[in-house]
Amino acid sequence: MREADEELVEVYAGDFARAELIRGMLENFGLSPELRDAFLGAIAPFSVAPGGAGAVKVVVPASEAERARTLIQGLEAADAGPDWTCPGCGERIDGRFEACWQCGARRPATPNP
Ligand SMILES: [Zn+2]
Repeated sequence: MREADEELVEVYAGDFARAELIRGMLENFGLSPELRDAFLGAIAPFSVAPGGAGAVKVVVPASEAERARTLIQGLEAADAGPDWTCPGCGERIDGRFEACWQCGARRPATPNP
């Protein structure tokens, strides 16, 4: 639980699915994340930035910001992960991509080196 008047700090901005994923992760680590602008993007898409159209922000109490950023960095690093081999066509895919650029198959849950 946090103090109601504690300042909130933005630790992430991006698409809704990603922001929601990060919010859930931070919550699992005992933090108190909240989403901002989750619906504003649909009403006034030209007003959202810098995450692009539909950007959603994840905010946490200032006292949790440092830990939140560390956790998010860890998540991003894990996502960048190792290159993987497409299960659909055998193409070698850069670890930054979540789907095969050639056949569109999704990255396997467990990357196969
Ligand atoms: Zn493929």
